[in-house]
Amino acid sequence: MTASNPASVVPSIHDRFAVVRERIRSTCVAAGRDLASVILTAVSKTQPDEALEAALATGQRVFGENRVQEAQAHWADRRAAFPDLELRLIGPLQTNKAVEAVQLFDVIETLDREKLAAALAAAMQKTGRRPRILVQVNTGAEPQKAGVLPDDADALIASARDGHGLTVEGLMCIPPADEAPEPHFKLLAEIAARNGLSVLSMGMSGDYEAAISCGATHVRVGSALFGERISPLKPS
Ligand SMILES: *Cc1c(COP(=O)(O)O)cnc(C)c1O
Repeated sequence: MTASNPASVVPSIHDRFAVVRERIRSTCVAAGRDLASVILTAVSKTQPDEALEAALATGQRVFGENRVQEAQAHWADRRAAFPDLELRLIGPLQTNKAVEAVQLFDVIETLDREKLAAALAAAMQKTGRRPRILVQVNTGAEPQKAGVLPDDADALIASARDGHGLTVEGLMCIPPADEAPEPHFKLLAEIAARNGLSVLSMGMSGDYEAAISCGATHVRVGSALFGERISPLKPS
């Protein structure tokens, strides 16, 4: 039963958070960036309760989740105890889950099509909640990956903002697994700059330092904080 014994899990998560925070700090120093300009989003998908509790105990309050239902199970009841939680949806969203997503999340990072912008606007109307929005860009134009194509990003940003009245604050990307990530991070930063957007969610366990050097304001880190996931979900 060692795997589910909190005593065996808690210290290592505590140490891993300390290591990642230190690396973020030293990367900010090297890049001449203010430490407060980079937010660590802890990706808690597939993690057991004791791992969530261990992360909260380190002071972590910003969490990323891939799926609406799993996020509800993880966080709905914890909100009362941690009013300063910030929940960020980083996985693909179906229009029929828009209401649930708007009710739970503070930020939805995966807007990638017109139809979803319309569904989110309707869900906000219905619930009175207004999560902030990031547009996901498929910087590598990978056929199997979610995200708007780079050439179509400006139009989607404009229609989400001006047509649907969404609060679009930035962009998110997941570079192709088999390529150097920097050109993708730089492309995302360029698209954000020409659209007047300040938030850049980019960088995961393997490349968050590179992302910070390219201007990331939010890094989404899972396995470097929690260890390898037991049933990994592929980012999409
Ligand atoms: C799972 C996931 C992450 C975290 O990945 P790690 O490599 O474990 O850090 C980040 N972003 C998205 C969109 C993900 O799905």
